[in-house]
Amino acid sequence: MRSFTTLDLQYAHRFYGFNGEAQYLHGHTGILTIEVEDSVNMGVNMVFPCNEINKTAWDVLKNFDHALVLREDDPLLPAILAVYEEQGIKDGSPTNTMKGEAFKTDLATAYPDSRLVVTKETMTVEGMIKIVYDLLKDKLNIAKITFTSGVNAASEEYEPGNEKARCPLCGIALDEDGTCPKCGYKA
Ligand SMILES: [Zn+2]
Ligand SMILES: [Zn+2]
Repeated sequence: MRSFTTLDLQYAHRFYGFNGEAQYLHGHTGILTIEVEDSVNMGVNMVFPCNEINKTAWDVLKNFDHALVLREDDPLLPAILAVYEEQGIKDGSPTNTMKGEAFKTDLATAYPDSRLVVTKETMTVEGMIKIVYDLLKDKLNIAKITFTSGVNAASEEYEPGNEKARCPLCGIALDEDGTCPKCGYKA
């Protein structure tokens, strides 16, 4: 069976070099759905607690919320950074508190201090799904990711991998030595 959760991400981007209005900077509320597949954990009668899927995903993905997402070769990138620098907000500001943990993968690099994500490929809905899977595949048994942004939508299905041992009291994955990171239960 599957447990799934949905997150909202508000971001700005553009399709650099694209022949259409999307080559201009614009914004979206993107809706990301992550489905996790496993057996039903008998202790809690859930596959995985949805708030925990949400928390795990949000820790990383809040880097995309109220963020600007630009491709690495986009000339807007140095232009924006120059303005942020001049304004003194490039390396953070006291009101920029909702920051995710910085990450760097082959597909994307997050700069939480300047609320910027630099991508290798154009950040279409398909591109976002590739980035998200790469960031979360080792943390969650992902079976499907769906991303919608305006009229654009895409989804991809995955082999969910090995069944994870979960806490019968909390439903979350046990760590390497079989201990629940939340309540301390030991298998
Ligand atoms: Zn767009
Ligand atoms: Zn527990």
